[in-house]
Amino acid sequence: MSGLRFDPIRLPARCQELRREVREFLSAETRAGTFDPRDPESGSSTAREFSKRVGERGWIGMTWPKTYGGQERSFLDRYVVTEEMRVANAPTRHFFVADRQSGPTLIRYANEAIKDRILPAIVRGELCFCIGMSEPNSGSDLFAASTKATRCDGGWTINGSKIWTSNAQNADYMIGLFRTSPSSKENRRHGLTSFLVDMRLPGVRCNPIGQMSGQREFNEVVFEDVYIPTDHVIGEVDGAWKQATSELAYERSGPERFLETYGALVELIDFVGETSHPAVISGLGRLVAELHTLRRMSVSVAGMLEEGHEPVVEAAIVKDVGTVWEQGLPHRARDLAGFAETIERPYHIFEEKLGFYLKIAPKVTIQGGTTEILRGIIARGLGLR
Ligand SMILES: Cc1cc2nc3c(=O)[nH]c(=O)nc-3n(C[C@H](O)[C@H](O)[C@H](O)COP(=O)(O)OP(=O)(O)OC[C@H]3O[C@@H](n4cnc5c(N)ncnc54)[C@H](O)[C@@H]3O)c2cc1C
Repeated sequence: MSGLRFDPIRLPARCQELRREVREFLSAETRAGTFDPRDPESGSSTAREFSKRVGERGWIGMTWPKTYGGQERSFLDRYVVTEEMRVANAPTRHFFVADRQSGPTLIRYANEAIKDRILPAIVRGELCFCIGMSEPNSGSDLFAASTKATRCDGGWTINGSKIWTSNAQNADYMIGLFRTSPSSKENRRHGLTSFLVDMRLPGVRCNPIGQMSGQREFNEVVFEDVYIPTDHVIGEVDGAWKQATSELAYERSGPERFLETYGALVELIDFVGETSHPAVISGLGRLVAELHTLRRMSVSVAGMLEEGHEPVVEAAIVKDVGTVWEQGLPHRARDLAGFAETIERPYHIFEEKLGFYLKIAPKVTIQGGTTEILRGIIARGLGLR
């Protein structure tokens, strides 16, 4: 196989100390009533004050340059913090997108004045970001986006809409992809530009889209003559396509890509209790072994990022295998629960929690790039197409 690589990286000893600190912090937050780790919805809830306390600990933007408030720590340190927060169902939604994606984009492509103003506020846990890429006719095919930014006096005017924008209703800013020129014959990806959009500007409207899980996560975001100053262009005008790919490895390989339904495993273990049924023992063993393997692959990608590589194909593999696994987990938990002999907790409590994970499972293979798109990337990376 051409260049596929998963180095067997082990987390350094200092990560264990950090893990202990994060666990202590989260357990104090739980005792204080900030969130309930067994509430499946708490992971996606918005908690501004919690975000600020995470910021005070230096756990937002922890890999970023110190000039912008970061800690210049390693991706492996960040990995540990993300993993602990996700496993504990901590309410990271307020800062997570800014920490993982928007901040690093600004560091690479924004002008200094924007960086000086925005990045330290993200690090303090004060700002929430959303991602404005998808449109009704451009999801997988991002480069078909048609919502326009037109030049005007001193800046740009945006008209059109974005869809499936997670958490837009709570976001302070969006990094949005808008059409600034038609695509060219030579390059159909030409003509799109990234902008930093203040979500409180006049002309920006969020229309909620209901979900079967009962969450209120999605929005259609409508822009009507929204004025954006010139210095809010992020990167090259018409050249946003060049900026997209390097970010994908960061977006696709983290522990959040296989831990979204992890609570179903916790609930299953709690429900079946001490059991000697061979189907439950082997089923649980299989689930844990698969999880362990996924985690090793994901840590490996984090280690390669730390060394300055861009493991795009490996990251796509982690996202594909990870999301298929987390999608199947609640179903497998339900099947295994049927074999339980001694029941520690009533079935209806297990069923209620499992119900939530079953309802969110379909989305995990769509968000951040569908399974089919990822497999196309993997096939291309392996020289198969
Ligand atoms: C929970 C969740 C959160 C999201 N949050 C955001 C967000 O914050 N911001 C944002 O911009 N978007 C967001 N999205 C949108 C998401 O990025 C898109 O839904 C996704 O990229 C797919 O696009 P689409 O829905 O238009 O489907 P389409 O692109 O129309 O795809 C439909 C089907 O066709 C398949 N398909 C498409 N093209 C190909 C191809 N070339 N080869 C093979 N198969 C193909 C797809 O795999 C899929 O099965 C979110 C989605 C979800 C589910």
